[in-house]
Amino acid sequence: IDLGTANILVYTKNKGIILNEPSVVAVDTKTRQVIAFGEEAKSMIGKTPGSITVIRPLKDGVIADFDVTTDMLRMVMKKVGKKIGSSIRKPNVMVCTPSGATSVERRAIHDAVKNSGAKEVHLIEEPVAAAIGADLPVSEPIASVIVDIGGGTTEVGIISFGGVVSSNTVKIAGDRMDEDIIHFVRKQFNVLIGERTAEKIKMEVGYALVPHTLESMEVRGRDVMTGLPKTITISSVEVQETLRESLLSILEAIRVTLESCPPELSGDIVDQGVVLTGGGALLKGMQEWLSNEISVPVHIAPQPLESVAIGTGRSLVMMDKIQKVAR
Ligand code: ADP
Ligand code: MG
Repeated sequence: IDLGTANILVYTKNKGIILNEPSVVAVDTKTRQVIAFGEEAKSMIGKTPGSITVIRPLKDGVIADFDVTTDMLRMVMKKVGKKIGSSIRKPNVMVCTPSGATSVERRAIHDAVKNSGAKEVHLIEEPVAAAIGADLPVSEPIASVIVDIGGGTTEVGIISFGGVVSSNTVKIAGDRMDEDIIHFVRKQFNVLIGERTAEKIKMEVGYALVPHTLESMEVRGRDVMTGLPKTITISSVEVQETLRESLLSILEAIRVTLESCPPELSGDIVDQGVVLTGGGALLKGMQEWLSNEISVPVHIAPQPLESVAIGTGRSLVMMDKIQKVAR
C-alpha cells in the first residue's frame, strides 16, 4: 500500500496496481461514519452540505486523524477484496512510511493498517520504495537520489545499499502550489476558487521556472465583491510567478540533501543523477528546470504516480522469498 497524502494505491503480487484512488473520505459530521471514499469523496470537496465533511486524513504527510484513516483503509481492503475475490482474508501488507516519520507516526501507520484487517504489516521507507519502483540499483553500493514531490510533502532521499543514507522532507509540494494559486486569484482578480479548480490550473497551465510559450486558461469562481459567479482568464506566466516561492523551497530541500551526501557517494550522483517521482514530477518544465539548477542529470521515473506503489509491492515479494529461503 502506498498511503500517500493525495493518492492511495494498492499493488498485489499477481495483478499489479488494482486500486488507485484519492486519499479522501467524506464523513457524516454527527456520527463520524465514513460515507464515501476516493474519487467519489474528492468530487464532493467544497460542495457538501453541513452534515457532511470531506477529509483528507493524511494531508500533511502523517496520519492526522487515526480513526478516519483506519476507516479509509478498511474501505480500501474491502474494495481490493472484491476485486481479487475472497481468496485473501488476512493479507500480508507492506506499507511505506515517509522517511521523516517519527517512531510514533510509524506505529500509527502500522496500527491503522493492522486494524483494517491485515495479518502481518511491514513498513518500508518511501524513498527506498520509490527507488525500487523506478528500477534503480538500490541494493548496490551506488548512490541513488530520489526526489518525490507528492501532495503534502516533498521527500528527498539518498539511497545506497538498500537503505537511506541521508534524507530531507519539506511540507511544500502539490497542495501548497494549489493554495498559492487560490491566493493569487483572490488577490489579483478578487475571485474565490476552490482546491479542485486550483489543481486543474496547475496541471494545465502551470510551469516550473523555465521559458515557455504563453498559454492561458478560462477559470470560473465567485466574485468576492458581488458574490456572483465570474469568469476570468489566467496566464501561464502568472501561474509560474505564483509558484516561484514553493518551487524554490523544493529546490532548496534538494540542495541541502545533496550537500549532506557523503563525499564517496557524490561522484555517483554526478554520473547517475537524480530521479524525480510523485505527481509533482509531472509539472511542466520540472525536469528541465531542476537539471539547470543543480547541474546533475535529472530523470523522471517511468510512472511517477505509481513508482512508490510498485516498489513497495516488489519489496514485499522479495521479502517473501527471503523468508521462504530462511525457513
Ligand atoms: P502523494 O504521494 O502525496 O499521495 P502523489 O505522488 O500522488 O502524492 O502526487 C499528487 C500531487 O501531484 C497532487 O498535488 C497533484 O495535484 C500533483 N499532480 C498530479 N499530476 C500533475 C501534473 N500533471 N502537473 C502538476 N502536478 C500534478
Ligand atoms: Mg507519494
